[in-house]
Amino acid sequence: MKRSTVDYAWWDDTYDFAQNHDFEFIESNFRDSTFQNLDLNLVIISDIDNNLLYCKIRDNMTASLQADICGEIVSNSLNWNLTGESPAVSGLLLVNGQPMMIAATPILTSEIAGPAVGRLMFGIYLDSQEVAALKKMSNVDFSINVLGSLQAVEPLLLNSKSPLLVENNEFNISAYGLLNDLNSNPAFILQVNRPRIAYQQGAWVETISIAFSIVIIAIFSASIFFVLEHKIIRPMNKLAASVGDIPFQSKRVSKGKFESDEIVILSDAVSNTVNSKMDAMLDVSSMVAHDLRNPLAGIRNANYVLKKNYSKVLGEKGNAMLSTIDDCVLYSNKIVNDLLDYSSKIKLDRVRVEVSELVKNSLGMFVSPEGVEVSLDILEGASIFVDPEKVERVFCNLIKNAFDAMPGGGRLVVSARRAGGFVVVKFVDSGVGMSEETLRRLWQPFFTTKAKGMGIGLPTCKRIIEAHGGRLEVKSVLNKGTVFEVYLPVAG
Ligand code: ADP
Repeated sequence: MKRSTVDYAWWDDTYDFAQNHDFEFIESNFRDSTFQNLDLNLVIISDIDNNLLYCKIRDNMTASLQADICGEIVSNSLNWNLTGESPAVSGLLLVNGQPMMIAATPILTSEIAGPAVGRLMFGIYLDSQEVAALKKMSNVDFSINVLGSLQAVEPLLLNSKSPLLVENNEFNISAYGLLNDLNSNPAFILQVNRPRIAYQQGAWVETISIAFSIVIIAIFSASIFFVLEHKIIRPMNKLAASVGDIPFQSKRVSKGKFESDEIVILSDAVSNTVNSKMDAMLDVSSMVAHDLRNPLAGIRNANYVLKKNYSKVLGEKGNAMLSTIDDCVLYSNKIVNDLLDYSSKIKLDRVRVEVSELVKNSLGMFVSPEGVEVSLDILEGASIFVDPEKVERVFCNLIKNAFDAMPGGGRLVVSARRAGGFVVVKFVDSGVGMSEETLRRLWQPFFTTKAKGMGIGLPTCKRIIEAHGGRLEVKSVLNKGTVFEVYLPVAG
């Protein structure tokens, strides 16, 4: 636009018009097509004395309003730096409430010679179309706002007089700056909008960092948990379970894939301590049992003498008391013998013997309790090489336990069969059965659920059978019944 202004202003025809006011010049040079071709909205020509020679504003406004506006622009242009040969000045002016780009040039001859005889001004509204074209050219997203239209930032801008940055949201930011018009008065606010790429990248990096940190922390925690679980917690639980389940000989925690040496050492220490304590306890039990044997025999003998010599004198009540003393001594004797059996070394006097004979002898020692039916299914001709007295003690213990488990009656089936190199004697009762807890603690010495039980019957049975090179197994279902299986090697 500036160049067009210069083209028209430094031209002899314009130079003549500024002096002669011959309107033929206007009619032939400033037709509507001129405005359209140059995209102009305003043309002003004034003479050297600032008289308005020609004014046209392509806008819907009256001729008198056009004249007023043009007159004001011309009078203001006195302050513009427009000396004789200076090229065009340009800038923004508020025209009819809209920003307009104005270029003004002194009128000279075609040879660019003076003196200047007037001024020529062209103007183009900076409307949305024009702004869009400028945005495209400059690749900058901006808008020109008339002062008074941006209340949010205007007071700050006017106070500080320096550009202002405002974060609109996480996606874009705006910069605001005051623009002076051609008269050097603040008249417009330039707003430039920018996407917050750096901020978004920063936010993205932050999100990635947080996610990364979470993953690292999760992996770290999982590793710590894994190490704790496998190196400490599991072995400790295993150790605790082993300590809780200690039978006659405490078990050592086997060194698994993940268990540390420390845990195995600890397990050994616990195992050794428990075993030595158990040994000491059995020694004491054995000593006490030995020492009680003689006084018990003394009481029994004295009772026998009393019964024999004084039963008539003592009367019915006295004799009943003597019988009670006898029963108690018998019961104490059984406890003493059990304790001695359990705590002493097992010596076997082996002989070849028929299994059926041992089972029948054992059953013969009991009178079946009321309501209990006993049946036999014994394989004849199966001989074993065992200490008959000790094996019978085992069978008696299992039969007695079965009878105890059927207080309301039931059925006991004793059978024997061959299985591989063993003869298996099976005791199946339909009694009360055992809970998981009872099954777990069954082989522990002194574990009993009976009021008058000692809890060393089964551990002793196990020792005796294992001393023969056999094994003792149990299966039980609570409220259904129990099966004990005695495996004894067949005689060679
Ligand atoms: P005691 O007979 O002195 O209790 P044992 O070592 O022989 O000692 O038995 C231990 C415990 O095992 C018994 O108290 C009982 O709870 C359980 N038990 C043994 N045999 C049976 C069985 N056949 N049926 C149910 N429980 C049994």
